[in-house]
Amino acid sequence: MEFVSTRGGVRCGFIEAFLQGLANDGGLFVPAHVPKVSKDELKSWRGLSYQELFLKIAAPFVGDEIPEQDLKKLVHDSYSTFRSPEVTPVQPIADGLYVLELFHGPTFAFKDVALQFMGNLYAYVSQKYGEKIHIIGATSGDTGAAAIHGVKSKEGIKICILHPHGKVSKVQELQMTSLLDDNVLNLSVRGNFDDCQQIVKELFSDVAFKSEHSLRAVNSINFVRILAQTVYYFYAYFKVADDSMTEEIHFSVPTGNFGDIFAGYLARLMGLPAGKFLLATNENNILERFVNDGVYRPENFKTTYSPAMDIQIASNFERYLYYLHGEDGAAVTRIMNDFREKGLIAAEGDTLRRVQSDFASYAVSNAACLETIKDYNERHGYLLDPHTACGVAAYERMFKNGGGKCVALATAHPAKFDEAIAECGIRQTFPEPIAELWDKPQRMTVVDSDKQQVIEQLLAFFK
Ligand SMILES: *Cc1c(COP(=O)(O)O)cnc(C)c1O
Repeated sequence: MEFVSTRGGVRCGFIEAFLQGLANDGGLFVPAHVPKVSKDELKSWRGLSYQELFLKIAAPFVGDEIPEQDLKKLVHDSYSTFRSPEVTPVQPIADGLYVLELFHGPTFAFKDVALQFMGNLYAYVSQKYGEKIHIIGATSGDTGAAAIHGVKSKEGIKICILHPHGKVSKVQELQMTSLLDDNVLNLSVRGNFDDCQQIVKELFSDVAFKSEHSLRAVNSINFVRILAQTVYYFYAYFKVADDSMTEEIHFSVPTGNFGDIFAGYLARLMGLPAGKFLLATNENNILERFVNDGVYRPENFKTTYSPAMDIQIASNFERYLYYLHGEDGAAVTRIMNDFREKGLIAAEGDTLRRVQSDFASYAVSNAACLETIKDYNERHGYLLDPHTACGVAAYERMFKNGGGKCVALATAHPAKFDEAIAECGIRQTFPEPIAELWDKPQRMTVVDSDKQQVIEQLLAFFK
């Protein structure tokens, strides 16, 4: 399949879009045409395993660029590392509410679902085409850990991850910094996640630097991440919906960079009968303000119990704007240029009404997040992590009495964010792979939030 940039200036195939990450015109890749899944196809997919479903969904996107047998092996290898044979099991928790557990991969957060596959795909492309793979990414904690675990000990790949110094959870930090492989560089940046993301974005926007050093992306600007994540929306739908394939199922999604929720939106564009997407934020609520007031404007950064959602600029939001504005690359370019100058994107009238028919949104306070963790632990015997708790808290406020079934995405295992769980007065037992992290030595390099310092580190590392 052909891919286009949201700014209209680049067209290329699947592997090229995967390798480029951010398009050279500054846009993000989206499929030139969204493949449609018919009701009959949906019915025939219902009994498939996670891996089989992945292959059906990915087929039109990948086209003939990867032989079927190779893709099959990649997919099976990628999900063999998960602790659940279902990969992403669905648990009924309360009347009408189901939790989609996305945390059974190696680093206990949903990022593994896409990054186990992307790690294998990078290794495949590196072997097959002799492409140099220098991965660079910014993380609020989970992407970095998942990406490093996705490519560790894979030949031909080097990975450098920037994380905000002291602003990731202890488990996240240990997961990233306790792998001592020589192909891993952890840069701990004195700043917040947006500073890290900004540096990475600037490096990718420097087209000459990017191509000279074969920079590759693992952030959700990479379309392959989105693609891999659409699979579990279909998977959950089949677990929860009746046989008619018309029942609308809502999804509640704890949102930061808009990647995960965009994957759901794409699934719906493909024909999944999803109902509303509930965009749950924490106190960093730029997206909630956009959905409810039509104004997208960064405000002051707040530290919360759900650090993976502590963002002010949602890099995937541009993909949604592309569809909101009729797949018009010129319009998106204007909007993004305006945003750079004025720091604001506005939607009003019919446009805002469309936004509000696609999404509902709720911003969860720190207090409500902890209350929800305590409440679900007591009433339902289910321990939510603080990100998942934001999604469930939003469900409680917005959907609970509205009828219909809702799937809440559980984006991390609670053991990853014990700081918040302990704050609730709850003592949890850690799964073995997390408990043993504390005994491991760590390695990372602390730098200022300064592009030049990062470049110096990179040049030495890539040598
Ligand atoms: C990354 C992450 C999120 C936010 O996902 P986006 O795709 O950035 O919207 C939510 N919860 C957890 C645990 C995460 O790691």
